[in-house]
Amino acid sequence: MDRRRLYTCVSWELRNYFQFPPPSNQFSIVVSNIHQNLTAIIYDRKGRVLSVGKNNYLKTHPLQAKHANRVGEEHKIFLHAEIDAIAKCRNLDRAYKIFVMRVNSQGRYMLAAPCKICQDAIAATPIKIVEHT
Ligand SMILES: [Zn+2]
Repeated sequence: MDRRRLYTCVSWELRNYFQFPPPSNQFSIVVSNIHQNLTAIIYDRKGRVLSVGKNNYLKTHPLQAKHANRVGEEHKIFLHAEIDAIAKCRNLDRAYKIFVMRVNSQGRYMLAAPCKICQDAIAATPIKIVEHT
């Protein structure tokens, strides 16, 4: 793992402490669909949202396939939230931080540490900070 990147686990209770809280509208979107329970948000240095990604059990994406292949997990073809956010980000050169959250069907925040595939994809971007629930 790249030592420049800081991985921190953010508990929901502490979310107000951070200067980049996730947009509140994400919450209702996430809990309303059990198959879309992961959200990734990319911010620039000033905390502006550059893109929002969600996981999808029906969609595949070439970027997902590329990084899945690179880490030897080519069977994981469905789109992860982090990859979706990276693919949607129009100015990835300004990307500074990614926040990943997982919400279960009861609305509770669960562990959302990026998997090997997503760590590989994040490492290919300028993102310096990874935070997750
Ligand atoms: Zn992943």
